[in-house]
Amino acid sequence: MDKNKHKIGTKVIHAGQSPEPITGAVMPPIFTTSTYVQPSPGQHTGFEYTRAQNPTRFALERMVAGLEGSGLSAEQDETNGGFAFASGLAAMATVLELFEAGSRVLAMDDLYGGSGRLFSKVRAHSQALDVVRADLSDADALRANMTADTKLVWVETPTNPMMKIADLGVIAKICKEINPGVVLACDNTFASPINQRPFEYGFDISMHSTTKYLNGHSDAIGGVLITNDAELAQQLRFLQMAVGSVMSPFDAYLVLRGIKTLDVRMARHNETGLKIAGWLETHEQVEKVIYPGLTSYPQHALAKQQMSGFTGMVSFTIKGGLDAAKAMLETVRLFALAESLGGVESLIEHPAIMTHASVPAEMREQLGITDGLIRLSCGIEDADDLIADLDQALAVGARAGVDSGAAAKA
Ligand SMILES: *Cc1c(COP(=O)(O)O)cnc(C)c1O
Repeated sequence: MDKNKHKIGTKVIHAGQSPEPITGAVMPPIFTTSTYVQPSPGQHTGFEYTRAQNPTRFALERMVAGLEGSGLSAEQDETNGGFAFASGLAAMATVLELFEAGSRVLAMDDLYGGSGRLFSKVRAHSQALDVVRADLSDADALRANMTADTKLVWVETPTNPMMKIADLGVIAKICKEINPGVVLACDNTFASPINQRPFEYGFDISMHSTTKYLNGHSDAIGGVLITNDAELAQQLRFLQMAVGSVMSPFDAYLVLRGIKTLDVRMARHNETGLKIAGWLETHEQVEKVIYPGLTSYPQHALAKQQMSGFTGMVSFTIKGGLDAAKAMLETVRLFALAESLGGVESLIEHPAIMTHASVPAEMREQLGITDGLIRLSCGIEDADDLIADLDQALAVGARAGVDSGAAAKA
């Protein structure tokens, strides 16, 4: 039985999993060991040292490889091209180790703040990476910036927090035409493998911050890389071991446990996200709702073609600017005012002040990350309760917005 041929609702339970060989345990035990005994020097079971091999981490790595559809066999790569790291950024940083100093990288303009920071504040000087940022959701901008010596294209779709959709198929086609050897990587954190699988469009690497939807319970930081290319898998296996920012066995267990409910959680996130976005659109205190699942969304047709659901991430601008936004964020009761996303509990945040404060002001303005912009991560609570909470907080925000408007005029 090839467990990787199943539908994704079955894969989240079974992909890459087998009972523990000694006891038959259904879930892999947490192998909290740093090292493994050898009967004779160099003679071992395939497990020598946990930075290189750990059965609990391997179980998670095989799982995420199955979810993304890497297609790599155990002969091609021990964990089918899946690799787990201590954080999403550690995973991303390990991808960057694939390239020589001074390499040219083309990256999406709208990125997770920390990803942009890793490029511009760290690797631009420590590795002299020449990172060019452009709106890769625009084919003309892509063509204008893609060159034959570009080694890596780094895409995030939908983007955070503006929900821009990059057409993965178009990007793969154009970039591989210009440089067949380019590595195409997609940060798939926002979509989750339930809603979008980059390999289906010709990408080489999919990356996730497992901190978000994959783990889904806001209790562990982690990241994964998956590749469908046997050669890249070999390089990443070496780098994971040689650089060493690996995920701990305990965190691997937590993420694997979280993934078992990923399909049912995402169904609820998708449903609630759409319901709340639709409701916000009718609210008089709301200026604009940004949610790819809405028919009013400019890239709705593309989103529908590339994604099977649109997640619980909803951005909107409140009328009345910063004062209204602050008052609303201080007033929510069910939504927690916090960074991060993708957990079972609903979160709300202010990108300009919180998650995207590291983005230069000029770039924030260009992207539309304004003072009135609010981002929701809709959890899996009852949607009506969430709407009631937003409704009472929007009312308070409206009064604050009016007061500050009047004060400005006086
Ligand atoms: C959170 C996040 C990251 C970084 O992951 P960490 O686990 O926090 O290191 C990268 N990309 C996206 C889209 C994210 O949301």
